[in-house]
Amino acid sequence: MLIRLTNVTKVYKLGVERIRALDGINLEIDRGEYVAVMGPSGSGKSTLMNIMGCLDRPTSGAHELDGQVTTELTASALARIRNERIGFVFQTFELMPRMSALKNVEMPLVYSRTGWRGRHKRARLVLERVGLADRMAHRPNQLSGGQRQRVAIARALICNPSILLADEPTGNLDTKTGTEILALFDAIHEQGQTIIVVTHEAHVARHAERIVRMTDGHIRSDLPIEEDTLSSASPRPADVAASPATGASPAADNLATRPPETSG
Ligand code: ADP
Ligand code: MG
Repeated sequence: MLIRLTNVTKVYKLGVERIRALDGINLEIDRGEYVAVMGPSGSGKSTLMNIMGCLDRPTSGAHELDGQVTTELTASALARIRNERIGFVFQTFELMPRMSALKNVEMPLVYSRTGWRGRHKRARLVLERVGLADRMAHRPNQLSGGQRQRVAIARALICNPSILLADEPTGNLDTKTGTEILALFDAIHEQGQTIIVVTHEAHVARHAERIVRMTDGHIRSDLPIEEDTLSSASPRPADVAASPATGASPAADNLATRPPETSG
């Protein structure tokens, strides 16, 4: 078992108010799985991701990664695990604006025991893997949204993480570019990478093998994709890509707030 959450709760204190963001979560994820975490805004998805990514600790309950109970580790031990074992991909890319793609991808190696030497070669290889061999010297503002997200994915992969954690990875991309990024995740998963993606979009979740649905800090359902009735009722990715102007498409929000960069 790669990840095991046992009776995890997370309570935020906000003045006198206490918010139960997670309430008794039990979840096990195996190596090589591709899991989508879905649920409405405020249901606890990001809180869950932060705990699985060792960015935060539960208020009670246990989080295990690779047989190690992280709840008992010091902050610096936790930071080391985060650096070496978790790759993060965010909606807003979170790249260093003044650094080239290559330098951005090398960044995690600064903090890593796995070696500063050979960093250029490793960064180049992983940039090639995400299809950016010809953009290594570009800074983020010289790249399209999809290319920026590829740089972020390369950075997430450079330490060969146990888990790739992505929070709404296509949320800032137009439908076509988002579909390309999801195809890249599919390829990375086929190479054996464990992926956990947080999304509220059905067409994103459809790429996963298993869907965990959350409501109010609880897991409401946890099913293989083919048994998740809600997701089979929604359009296939190809349908969404083929009709980006459909009002009913979950991606319509993005199209409304941001014009597609690459519409044909
Ligand atoms: P989601 O990602 O599903 O939208 P979150 O995990 O971000 O949900 O939030 C779950 C609940 O916890 C929400 O009610 C949110 O307002 C609350 N919350 C999240 N982070 C904090 C925080 N740092 N302090 C106080 N409340 C928080
Ligand atoms: Mg969130």
